[in-house]
Amino acid sequence: MTTTSLHVNEAIKELIDAIGKENVLTEMRHRALRSASAAPFPVHQWKKHLPDVVVLPTSTEDVIHIVRIANKYHVPIVPRGGGVGLADGAVPLRHGIVIDMKRLNQIIEIDEENMCVTVQPGINLLELNRVVGELGWWHPDDPAGYIGSVVGGRLGAGGFSLIGAGYGHTRDLVISMEVVLPTGDVVRVGEGGGRKVRKSSVGFRLKDLFIGHQGTLGVVTEATLELFPKPEVEFPAFFAFKTFDDAYKTAYELGKSGLKTLSGVVMFDERKIDYLRRDDEAFIPLPEWVNSVVATICYGTEAEVSQARKVIFKICEGCDGTYLGREMSEGDWASRHDRYHIPFHGRRSDGQVVLLSWHCEDAAINYSELPMVMKKWHKIVDKYIAKYDGMFDNWGMFMYTNNAFKPWGDYLTEIDIGVNELMMTDEIWQDWLKMKQEIAEVVIEAGGSISSCHGGTRPGDEEVVCYQELAEGQYELMKKIKRMLDPNNIMNPGKYLLDNAYREEN
Ligand SMILES: Cc1cc2nc3c(=O)[nH]c(=O)nc-3n(C[C@H](O)[C@H](O)[C@H](O)COP(=O)(O)OP(=O)(O)OC[C@H]3O[C@@H](n4cnc5c(N)ncnc54)[C@H](O)[C@@H]3O)c2cc1C
Repeated sequence: MTTTSLHVNEAIKELIDAIGKENVLTEMRHRALRSASAAPFPVHQWKKHLPDVVVLPTSTEDVIHIVRIANKYHVPIVPRGGGVGLADGAVPLRHGIVIDMKRLNQIIEIDEENMCVTVQPGINLLELNRVVGELGWWHPDDPAGYIGSVVGGRLGAGGFSLIGAGYGHTRDLVISMEVVLPTGDVVRVGEGGGRKVRKSSVGFRLKDLFIGHQGTLGVVTEATLELFPKPEVEFPAFFAFKTFDDAYKTAYELGKSGLKTLSGVVMFDERKIDYLRRDDEAFIPLPEWVNSVVATICYGTEAEVSQARKVIFKICEGCDGTYLGREMSEGDWASRHDRYHIPFHGRRSDGQVVLLSWHCEDAAINYSELPMVMKKWHKIVDKYIAKYDGMFDNWGMFMYTNNAFKPWGDYLTEIDIGVNELMMTDEIWQDWLKMKQEIAEVVIEAGGSISSCHGGTRPGDEEVVCYQELAEGQYELMKKIKRMLDPNNIMNPGKYLLDNAYREEN
């Protein structure tokens, strides 16, 4: 699909009439700011993804007008939340309209009796928790990208929460949503027809269709979310190990413990420890013998957590783990949202600071496959590091409990790669895509999923996602649903190779 400037100009005129000139931005600086997201998209290609216009709706009615105008003129439309998604979901691949949701940021209702809150999608998680926190409540969606993420972006990306093993992930924490479909019709999706009902056996489970779709099926304009009472106690405990193998066995034992307050377990592999030693000023230096770390986090009442503490120490010390102390544990856990400095620099082994951006390949991997995936991913990344001097750096791996409400089974597994964008050329970009594809193919070999938190919409991932991971009929069904809901392919076209749905029809 291409947008002609004639169509765009007509659409812009109607947008100004519908939502006011002050909410329609056409200047280059506003468009350029919304052409990229927090991922190493090649800088020299940014211009290819400039939107023609940015709109800032302030009500559901504005969104309906915008979507109807886009649909009338067949102009692409891309929802944008905080723009910190790591799958380029908010990047307007086919230009058109970026619908920036940040002015739709009100809390509509706090329902303390039914323990839920209804919000507009542009509110960020920090502000939401500031307001409900004053009343003793907590919405525990807790990504490392917490500060920049807004509710609509969490839903669009189908996000992962660091404490999902205790409280569930984004999809488990939303009760119902209002969605403007690509034709401008409005639906409310949830369990059955109730706005605040958590379990119903009526109808299809349509809510899930609108979580993780990366803005390809509609625009969320309202969401009713879970509230939890603020826990009495937060208890992080970090343990050091001589080998990754010891840490790996410990994570299994922790999963088997049956502790209800255990809300997350994170393993750091040997390369991650190496990277943190040389690169992250915030990290408390570890003794030389430390090659792996297991971080645990518990939330709950004082009575529950004090018992859990004893079990955690017994398991970790029984597996040869050494407690890293309160300062290290609490300090590192408290800094889990402060990762934004990392994307901008790296540090070589000689201590020299270099300009590198952060790239994260994540996957959902079953526990049994983690050692194989770890070995193969490092081998792949190291091959490309050796090929291009100073272009890439291996920042090691984290593995986080990925199952909702249960700290076992599968792990969000990420390898962090430093990328020197200033050295990026078209040739290196092609190799970079090959590296990503090789990484994704290991995930398929392991029976995993190519992303647990960011989505599979990045170049290098998409082909493997659509034609390997979702090959057993799922991708075919996705195309049918896309065509049915979005007859003119206006919603975030180009993502998940869904343009194919329309080519095959013609
Ligand atoms: C340092 C760092 C750490 C991170 N850690 C995590 C982590 O631990 N867990 C995790 O899950 N993610 C993590 N991320 C990624 C990011 O935080 C999440 O993907 C987050 O959900 C993106 O939110 P956003 O508001 O920036 O969305 P955006 O990037 O703006 O959008 C994400 C997708 O949602 C769509 N979208 C946005 N708003 C709407 C709407 N109203 N209706 C429909 N579609 C919409 C967009 O089109 C896009 O496809 C991290 C990112 C960074 C930079």
